[in-house]
Amino acid sequence: MNKKSLNDIWVSNKKVLVRVDYNVPMDKEGNITDDTRIRATIPTLEFLLAKNAAVILVSHLGRPKGKVAPEFSLKPVAQRLSQLLYGREIQFASDCVGPEARKMAAVLGAGQILMLENLRFHAEEEKNDPEFAKQLAGLADLMVNDAFGVSHRAHASVHGITKYIPAVSGFLMDKELLFLGQAVTDPTRPFVAIIGGAKVSDKIGVIENLLNKVDTLIIGGGMANTFLAAQGYQTGKSLVEADKLELAKELMAAAKTKGVNLLLPEDVVVADKFAADADRKTVAAEEIPAEWMALDIGPVSAAKFAQALNDAKTVVWNGPMGVFEFDAFAVGTEAVAKAVAASGAKSIVGGGDSVAALEKLKLAGQITHISTGGGASLEFLEGKELPGIMALADK
Ligand code: ADP
Ligand code: MG
Repeated sequence: MNKKSLNDIWVSNKKVLVRVDYNVPMDKEGNITDDTRIRATIPTLEFLLAKNAAVILVSHLGRPKGKVAPEFSLKPVAQRLSQLLYGREIQFASDCVGPEARKMAAVLGAGQILMLENLRFHAEEEKNDPEFAKQLAGLADLMVNDAFGVSHRAHASVHGITKYIPAVSGFLMDKELLFLGQAVTDPTRPFVAIIGGAKVSDKIGVIENLLNKVDTLIIGGGMANTFLAAQGYQTGKSLVEADKLELAKELMAAAKTKGVNLLLPEDVVVADKFAADADRKTVAAEEIPAEWMALDIGPVSAAKFAQALNDAKTVVWNGPMGVFEFDAFAVGTEAVAKAVAASGAKSIVGGGDSVAALEKLKLAGQITHISTGGGASLEFLEGKELPGIMALADK
């Protein structure tokens, strides 16, 4: 990508506004339950501090819908960041724009950090309001976008702001663009994509785009049922999108025309109800009983998928192979995850539930790159141009 990164500009003694994605999960008491997103920005922050920049952090948290809502305050995030930076002071402004933020930003010294309160306390952020973007821009000399997860949206802090101050990518963003970009533009082959999850309708664009790029496409999870139904199989009470049967047929035909090896489940684990303690049995994909539903791929499918992954050099994975939230139906996802790890391929996983599944199975560490952006990584894999990335300065 021909966009400027933090390495391409002079940041010493500059005021640098860094758009981060600190939208971390919290429990009911407001404790951060997973600080991965904060940790992921440390390389960018340490670089800026080492160069004596004054760092102004902006982020959103949750969905306060344009109003001040104390439960979505970024204060606990500032505390956690301070711990991660060995007790370094993080100044905090109670609003991301206005006199307090302006004053604190103006006196912020080299090597100091100021965090501003939740951007989404202002409806103008998601509306990409030019006046709001200008106020944010007015706090700094330049901006660094390290928030890949929101860069598929034209919001003020990733898009509008770039009209007023130069914008470059941070190191976390660079990592996303490097791994996802290489997979879709210049993959080492064989290139295998694994697409699963609940619905075909969520992933049509991804499947269509990847059909032009991959050697093998593996389809599992709930969406596989629609492909099974399109082949005329009975699918019982399985999740099937009746209005997507024609599309499934078209995608299967397209795979054939393009010479893509398309793999669908040959056997499935069916359940008598959608529950963790459901009765279950393994059946051939064309023999799903009328009152049962497919909630996971079966062992024959898992072995076939694993074999296809065996000599893969690049793997892109989005969407679990079954209802992994129930342990009994996480077996197929686990088998595929282990096969991805064993292949030694460069592996890239995107999607909130896919990442959650890998974490639950304690296999996340085996993946080369776990994308921090669910929706953004999907849009990237669809071949779309992401507004927050297009808006970065050209090299
Ligand atoms: P991601 O967030 O990784 O993009 P999705 O949101 O598309 O993934 O899909 C994840 C969801 O799909 C999970 O909640 C999982 O339970 C569900 N799912 C997977 N397989 C099935 C199935 N056979 N039937 C119903 N739901 C399924
Ligand atoms: Mg999901």
